[in-house]
Amino acid sequence: MLVETNNAVNLTAITEFDEVGEKHFLDSVASAAFIDFKKYESLIDIGTGAGFPGLPLKILFPHLNIVLADSLNKRINFLNLVIEELELTGVCAVHGRAEELARDPEYRERFDICVSRAVSRLSSLSELCLPLVRQDGLFIPYKSKEVNEELQEAERAIKIFGGEISEKKDIYLGSSNLFRSFPVIKKVKPTPDLYPRKNGVPQKKPIIVNKSAEK
Ligand code: SAM
Repeated sequence: MLVETNNAVNLTAITEFDEVGEKHFLDSVASAAFIDFKKYESLIDIGTGAGFPGLPLKILFPHLNIVLADSLNKRINFLNLVIEELELTGVCAVHGRAEELARDPEYRERFDICVSRAVSRLSSLSELCLPLVRQDGLFIPYKSKEVNEELQEAERAIKIFGGEISEKKDIYLGSSNLFRSFPVIKKVKPTPDLYPRKNGVPQKKPIIVNKSAEK
């Protein structure tokens, strides 16, 4: 469905069937190599696009209650068709910005796990994702080769939003040896009411540790 629909609606730049298998599906479930998803009940995927990583995680762990959220409605329409076609229950596709969902009591600090892939750098992504995670829950960003630099830059932001970096797992995936890094960020205290800031602000004005300014 992804490859077919992509001819009419721009969902992904990866369109070759085997490549979709590896770079979308295998990559999406790679976090299951070290996170025991069976121990958790609810998960939200911020900026899910065509459903990655949330949808493959739902297929692999059907017990999870999953919210797939994206600010672009054409992607949500596609996801609703997929959900219907696969007869999935306990998953819903929501049209909205993370900044708005995180201010809605139905979503704020409600999720055991928040995942997100290819949405923004860790400093701003933490502001979009951590407010949605309940105390002791996990924020698991899917990161690539700049992970260490992003972690350093996001150190202060993660603390402000109530998170704590608990570990980092690196994995090489499939025949293309795709590098994927997963910092695991635990929610240790509530996110202050001030956050997330207004739509677009987390990405435009991220709270970052600027090493040169610190000197
Ligand atoms: N996660 C998918 C993947 O890895 O294939 C899609 C990645 S795509 C590059 C980024 C997605 O994030 C887009 O679909 C965009 O609409 C969504 N997005 C960007 N900022 C967002 C925000 N503040 N709230 C919700 N969705 C957002």
